[in-house]
Amino acid sequence: MTLQTTHAGSLPKPIWLATPDQLWAEWQYGGDALAEAKRDAVRLAVADQELAGLDIVSDGEQTRQHFVTTFIEGLGGVDAENRATVQIRKRYDASVPRVVGDVYRGDGVFVDDAIFLRSITDRKIKTELPGPMTMVDTLQDDHYGNPETLAMVFAGILNEEAKELEAAGVDLIQFDEPAFNVFMDDVPGWGIEALERAADGLASMTAVHICYGYGVKANIDWKHGLGPEWRQYETTFPVLAESSVDQVSLELAGSHVPLEVLDLLGDKSVQAGVIDVATDRIETPEEVASLIASVAEHLSLDRIYPSTNCGMVPLSRQVGAAKLKALADGAALVSG
Ligand SMILES: [Zn+2]
Repeated sequence: MTLQTTHAGSLPKPIWLATPDQLWAEWQYGGDALAEAKRDAVRLAVADQELAGLDIVSDGEQTRQHFVTTFIEGLGGVDAENRATVQIRKRYDASVPRVVGDVYRGDGVFVDDAIFLRSITDRKIKTELPGPMTMVDTLQDDHYGNPETLAMVFAGILNEEAKELEAAGVDLIQFDEPAFNVFMDDVPGWGIEALERAADGLASMTAVHICYGYGVKANIDWKHGLGPEWRQYETTFPVLAESSVDQVSLELAGSHVPLEVLDLLGDKSVQAGVIDVATDRIETPEEVASLIASVAEHLSLDRIYPSTNCGMVPLSRQVGAAKLKALADGAALVSG
């Protein structure tokens, strides 16, 4: 059994593209120079993933400043200039765009990126989109006045985008929903309804990424307050098990998630986060293999896609590349 490896989404950016080692870093260029720099960075990100030996590669989100707001800013009905500061996921303040009218999708937001990615690698490719619940938590709504209504509008827009990504040759379409680990009460209702609407009718594999966040201080402090066992997944996994989404991307490495929650996922496959993104320490392949073996006590190997806990954009490029290699080497030990 050869395990298929991938990673959660974002990868560190080169120093000439954006300020390194930070989230939401400013671009170093504008205009055509920025467009060219982004494409060059995507080539490097793909080369790093191929060199490490990953099976399903992404563009490393090199074209995005933020995994949620960049998508929202690509839509109509949104004011990206006169921004607001809101607290997101009950944890930290962020500068976010404002919804000022009916939102709509004009041109594709990440479709050209996917076409480019498809043209430069023969491996399977994935594209990440923000999930509807996380989107409504990462903006200021001056128009709809109801998060559920806006989430369903976004779900329709995401579905249009996802169908064009699929047509561009994307094998795995992932919706990032870290908000599912915070607003658990709304997941069984409009949260899962919006997610399924976003993923409706796709032939590509679909995934939802639910993590405990990037390895930044606000998230690490939050994790310290979650107690010895993190049981957030216990609420959402039974709902996901009944859903039409194929795969769940989750955080396991260095976390306090009890592995028996995996038993709640029905027949879903998992992107098992076996690389901790909140530390610069590089896992050994043996550690990675050991965690995969523990996951395999709950899920058959064909349902396990070794991955990272979350995106790696706040890390250095050297650390990011080394962690990708540890991931692939560890998975190879299990694959035999
Ligand atoms: Zn994440």
